[in-house]
Amino acid sequence: MSTEGLVPPELLELPVVLRHLHVVRVVDITPHMRRVTLGGEQLGAFRAEGFDLTPFVTHNPDDFVKLFFPDPETDVLTLPEQDDGHLDWPRRPAPTHRSYTIRRYDEAAGELDLDFVLHGDGIAGEWARTVQPGEKIHVAGPRTSTVPPKRAAWWILAGDETALPAIAHYLDAPPADTPVFAFAVVPDAADEQAEVEGITWLTRRDGVSDGKQLADAIGELSLPEGEGWMWIAGEAGTVRELRAVAKALGVDKSMLDASGYWRQPVTGGVLKRVRTLRAQATETLAGRI
Ligand SMILES: Cc1cc2nc3c(=O)[nH]c(=O)nc-3n(C[C@H](O)[C@H](O)[C@H](O)COP(=O)(O)OP(=O)(O)OC[C@H]3O[C@@H](n4cnc5c(N)ncnc54)[C@H](O)[C@@H]3O)c2cc1C
Repeated sequence: MSTEGLVPPELLELPVVLRHLHVVRVVDITPHMRRVTLGGEQLGAFRAEGFDLTPFVTHNPDDFVKLFFPDPETDVLTLPEQDDGHLDWPRRPAPTHRSYTIRRYDEAAGELDLDFVLHGDGIAGEWARTVQPGEKIHVAGPRTSTVPPKRAAWWILAGDETALPAIAHYLDAPPADTPVFAFAVVPDAADEQAEVEGITWLTRRDGVSDGKQLADAIGELSLPEGEGWMWIAGEAGTVRELRAVAKALGVDKSMLDASGYWRQPVTGGVLKRVRTLRAQATETLAGRI
């Protein structure tokens, strides 16, 4: 396969700033998705720790930030330290943080939207479920930004509800010259977001994995000739299943963006558990900013 003039995705590195923001608004978009809008003076340039820090910027739809929470056991908030363009991370205790996609940033209004899946468990999910306007939170990033490919023959965007903020953001301004095929698995039909155009909604089904549902839907596509781009994100197992789809479609490594956004807990033997913890630790280190 070849596509004339194809420019593969490119990863940009950005200076990292730790900001203290406040909650402006909290809105339920669907039964399982809550939008938290953040604002504050530190979205602009400011000075801290002896450094002149740059205003908040975001360039591409799957840019994400890290949010910091008190340790669930000690209730102590540990933060990384601002350094010149990057953060220094303490090892013990390590900061408790979670990653969230920037759904929208309105520089003029000074508003940053993050969409939280209300999955019923977990520090960030619980924070989003109970947070009120005025409450404060530390936010860092984005550290990197992926520029999507140019002149690809097609794009496939696929994932579960955690991938939805990024997929919806891509669909806000799809490329003019490339057909985009977008799929998201959501818990219920009521979780389909009317504001998102150009997406195929799949409702989660008992006994069928998200990966299988997405793979079946992708399998029904008649893709245009030429080299395409696949962006996939969601639960780690779902992403694994979709990697196999990418392979079957002959998607080149440089044209595959696959990210495990969260991990279903493993039930089973001790060895399996140890492997999972090791994989999570590796992922945590890789995800530091
Ligand atoms: C780059 C990136 C961008 C992301 N963007 C978003 C985003 O925009 N919106 C969003 O909602 N999530 C997003 N995620 C996923 C989110 O960071 C994880 O779901 C995170 O684990 C949630 O943290 P928590 O504290 O609520 O749960 P944790 O404390 O991490 O986990 C507690 C338990 O909940 C389970 N769990 C975690 N997430 C889910 C889920 N979504 N559904 C069901 N069970 C779950 C875990 O397996 C664990 O058993 C993103 C992740 C990455 C890496």
